[in-house]
Amino acid sequence: MSLESPQWATSAGGHKITLYHSHPLVELASLRPLLLIGGVHGDEPEGVALAQQLLAWLKSHTATVKNSWVLIECLNPDGFSRNQRTNHHGVDLNRNFPSRDWSPQHREARYFPGPAPASEPEIQALVHLVAQVRPRLIVHFHSWKPSVVFAGPPNHPAPRFLSESSGYPVQPDIGYPTPGSLGQWGWLDQGIPVICTEEEERVSATETWTRFGPGLQKIFGQEIPLPLK
Ligand SMILES: [Zn+2]
Repeated sequence: MSLESPQWATSAGGHKITLYHSHPLVELASLRPLLLIGGVHGDEPEGVALAQQLLAWLKSHTATVKNSWVLIECLNPDGFSRNQRTNHHGVDLNRNFPSRDWSPQHREARYFPGPAPASEPEIQALVHLVAQVRPRLIVHFHSWKPSVVFAGPPNHPAPRFLSESSGYPVQPDIGYPTPGSLGQWGWLDQGIPVICTEEEERVSATETWTRFGPGLQKIFGQEIPLPLK
């Protein structure tokens, strides 16, 4: 099954955000789905392309995938429509999560974490969704320095599958602190493992699917372990 909730959320700039899901939302809480997210940063179209490729694949493999799922092609349509990192309020959505380490401090305007934790409607909607369906794993798709950034327990199979298929190394962080990021909030505060894929910039949808598609298919080909929480 593949369902669509086209009015799931509205961005700060008034764009509707569609949620795609394998089961009715009320059923997903007991299934503990995988949560896949593209377009957190509006100037990283490679991640939106990868989410779109994955959605097309999921729609044609609904009978065989081993995990339920929830997917957002583009969390930041405001930024995506203007090729800018931040949303309509100039907030870096990957610094706006209500993690314990959220901080108003930022080095540059492009990392503005917002006036308060979870001040932005896109993040409020995502925080609500996570509370609603309690995903067993979150994967969000970016582009910058090629890597598979993983915040979660040792020996989790998912980052390895993505690293093997892409050839990109697994790393525990991107090399500097990211307070208020999805990885910090999801793993440290919620106990949900979080993978952030960083694709090379300016690759095509076909190229990024060639690199990450086999790893994603492998993740959907086996039941992903439940987190402890
Ligand atoms: Zn990014």
